[in-house]
Amino acid sequence: MERFTGSFTQQEPIPEDGIEAAIAVLRHGRLHRYNTAPDEIAETALLEQEFAALTGAKYCLAVASGGYAMGCALRAIGVGHGDPVLSNAFTLAPVPGAIASVGAVPVFVEVTEDLTLDFDDLAVKARASGARVLMLSHMRGHLCDMEALQALCCDLGITMIEDCAHTMGAAWNGVPSGRHGLIGCYSMQTYKHVNAGEGGFLISDDPQVMARAILLSGSYMLYARHRAAPPPEVFEAIRLDVPNVSGRMDNLRAAILRPQLRLLGDRVARWAALYRSLEAGLTATPGLHLVPRPAQETYVGSSFQFLLPGWSSALVTALVARCAARGVELKWFGAEQPIAFTSRYDHWRYANPAPLPRTDRILAGLIDLRLPLTFTPDDTGQIARIIRAEVLAVQQQGADPALALPGAD
Ligand SMILES: *Cc1c(COP(=O)(O)O)cnc(C)c1O
Repeated sequence: MERFTGSFTQQEPIPEDGIEAAIAVLRHGRLHRYNTAPDEIAETALLEQEFAALTGAKYCLAVASGGYAMGCALRAIGVGHGDPVLSNAFTLAPVPGAIASVGAVPVFVEVTEDLTLDFDDLAVKARASGARVLMLSHMRGHLCDMEALQALCCDLGITMIEDCAHTMGAAWNGVPSGRHGLIGCYSMQTYKHVNAGEGGFLISDDPQVMARAILLSGSYMLYARHRAAPPPEVFEAIRLDVPNVSGRMDNLRAAILRPQLRLLGDRVARWAALYRSLEAGLTATPGLHLVPRPAQETYVGSSFQFLLPGWSSALVTALVARCAARGVELKWFGAEQPIAFTSRYDHWRYANPAPLPRTDRILAGLIDLRLPLTFTPDDTGQIARIIRAEVLAVQQQGADPALALPGAD
């Protein structure tokens, strides 16, 4: 019986030119973004300029984490204590956490079987809560119909902020993810599409919003050292009114990131090959539903999801155990308790979430896998064979604990 021996959490090394650039920063010692020699342009300022160019945004700010980027975005548009903020119920903990960090209240919206925001429920929740802001999480890289959502937000008087933690490099109808809302937020944490350990970006075309974000991030009165920023006069009008909530990016991480931005297009293509090989291997597996990917979507296949509609908890648990015994790590969004990075809206008790029956039904059968770029299409082909075999076996044999592990029978 074949067993997969790769690691689902092993990323690629930092590219050699990133290592060299990082060593140069360590040698000169000017790690703080505003600690520059005369005529030197900080790595952080160059990184922002390059990410703005990559996405087509006028302005970009690099910060300490993706979660910080989202909290900073909310503060920059004036969200504060007690304000309702709409968000997908299917997302990860940093999203409601960012909303809570400004004293605001997450209002969760149902998810569809395509793992995107339910537009009908968005309208219902927007009207019921009076929310004026949507923090849209492109969770696991699934983009909804972005033009339709823009029109709906316009009708509802809602400002959209995008959480692009899983869509750096993705696009809808050719428009980069993060360019449909007022602000796009990204993460450069190790498991995302470029790896600095930790890190985040905000992008926007709005000079007022971006000047506030830059001041909030802890720019002191050194905002003129930014290169992807609005002109100084925009800052002069507000610089004494905006608090410093320090969350800057540093030059060491910026040095590691700049060469990786240049590799992003190549990484997206490699992820697509992994994703397609896994998808092909799981096509037409009885009992297993694949998530359709619309033609308008350029997605980044850094993770893979499928649904097990109508499966009992016992059967799903048996599948996860049997796949784990063969080296395939599946994550399940239906588990009673949060496990590692995987948690669910009703685990975020501080947000006092209202029940969402449609989302509950979908998450009860939702399985998730990481696809690090250290995998090859042969690896994902093997992973598909193992999942397919175990999905069939579990359905035939049931969840008898004596049969829970392959080899036990
Ligand atoms: C990783 C992630 C973020 C940002 O997280 P940080 O760890 O703070 O960089 C935001 N949203 C989602 C959906 C994520 O997975």
